[in-house]
Amino acid sequence: MNLPFNDPSAIVEADRAHVWHHLIQHKSFETVDPRIIVEGKGMRVWDITGKEHIDAMSGGVWTVNVGYGRERIADAVRDQLVKLNFFAGAAGTIPGSQFAERLISKMPGLARVYYANSGSEANEKGFKMVRQIAHKVHGGKKWKILYRDRDYHGTTMGALAAGGQDERNAQYGPFAPGFVRVPHCIEYRAHELGLEPGPGFGVAAANLIEEVILREGPDTIGALCLEPVTAGGGVVPPPEGYWDRVQEICRQYEILLHIDEVVCGVGRTGAWFGYQHYGIQPDIVTMAKGVASGYAAISCCVTTEAVFEQFKDDSDPMSYFRDISTFGGCTAGPAAALENMAIIEEENLLENTIRMEERLVDGLNRLAERHDAIGQVRGKGLFQGAELVKNRESKEPLGEKEVGAILADCMAQGVIVGATNRSVPGRNNTLCLSPALIATADDIDQIVEAIDGAIGRML
Ligand code: PLP
Repeated sequence: MNLPFNDPSAIVEADRAHVWHHLIQHKSFETVDPRIIVEGKGMRVWDITGKEHIDAMSGGVWTVNVGYGRERIADAVRDQLVKLNFFAGAAGTIPGSQFAERLISKMPGLARVYYANSGSEANEKGFKMVRQIAHKVHGGKKWKILYRDRDYHGTTMGALAAGGQDERNAQYGPFAPGFVRVPHCIEYRAHELGLEPGPGFGVAAANLIEEVILREGPDTIGALCLEPVTAGGGVVPPPEGYWDRVQEICRQYEILLHIDEVVCGVGRTGAWFGYQHYGIQPDIVTMAKGVASGYAAISCCVTTEAVFEQFKDDSDPMSYFRDISTFGGCTAGPAAALENMAIIEEENLLENTIRMEERLVDGLNRLAERHDAIGQVRGKGLFQGAELVKNRESKEPLGEKEVGAILADCMAQGVIVGATNRSVPGRNNTLCLSPALIATADDIDQIVEAIDGAIGRML
């Protein structure tokens, strides 16, 4: 790698002096250098010391689905920016129209794409749509939004109000009223819900949502917002039967189903969207990270035509969606997203994801046979987690210090692995893996081997 700087230490010092990093206690930078990533190619990144890493987290936060260094995305963005970089407000743009059409072709039953910039923001759009429908259609009723324990929908104040991760929420309240929590659906921790694991668990866990609806009053609930597979809250795929029952409950009580695909969307789970594995039909779908694999900032709030229709009424001057995101008018996002989607199709990356999922899950399950610290391996596609415990019987979560030591060991071996850190206090004990969808068998084997060594050395 050619470092583009004459003096890497000056960059590190500038960063230490002036950059406020996300999600970290800055005291740590008094003893260790902030990590500066300089270059990426395929599955690999190089840091400012020149060290090479396999990135098993797709840019730290499950984003770079098609891998680094994609010149054709950069070229498409460059060409578009030279032609027209931006136009916002009521006008459309060519890449905005083209990407909306391509996206909807992958989402039967959905019809409209509303552009924004981040996952949080896309979710806020969904919440605002539900609130406006409550006022306009339901006479002020059906204004509450249900969200699930452990799910995360973003960092803005509205999204935090819908946040099921207490560590992210603590000290930022009070939050907006009207967001109501429902229980999680982690079968491995069924006992916490007073339920039995096994064939009936999925339906029973979904029925806990119904209990909340009945307690609150169905006529007060406008939407249920869920991740298809919970990400930062523990990498939790839904148990058998869960989604069918959730859909049934939503239909019975006329509750809109808002699926947050910010992590799962655009190939991560081996389907275009996570919800598509479970045969459900959402009303609102939000997405961000994988939409353009981090080559440009873009998020989308996608709705059915039925939702959209509620806002089409010129007899009422307030009935249109009174919302804008300035940078929803950046053309780099949809230009990058079009190429990103073309790459996934041309390189058969959904198929590769399913093939590599099998290898990754087999590898992790083999580790679980050797290391008692692995309580459960779970996930969907190239989105897998290994919940770490002190004791398999009690399922007591492994401490954050030990989990941190495993991550640091992997990092020292040149493999970037994640964990559900900074989410639920005392429950930041799941190793997270979301390699790019281009991962090869060798990449997967190296990732598994690094975890094997790290757990072996830690215990
Ligand atoms: N929804 C989910 C499921 C997420 O994991 C995240 C971020 O990690 C968000 C929403 C928020 O996205 P952003 O950080 O782009 O605002």
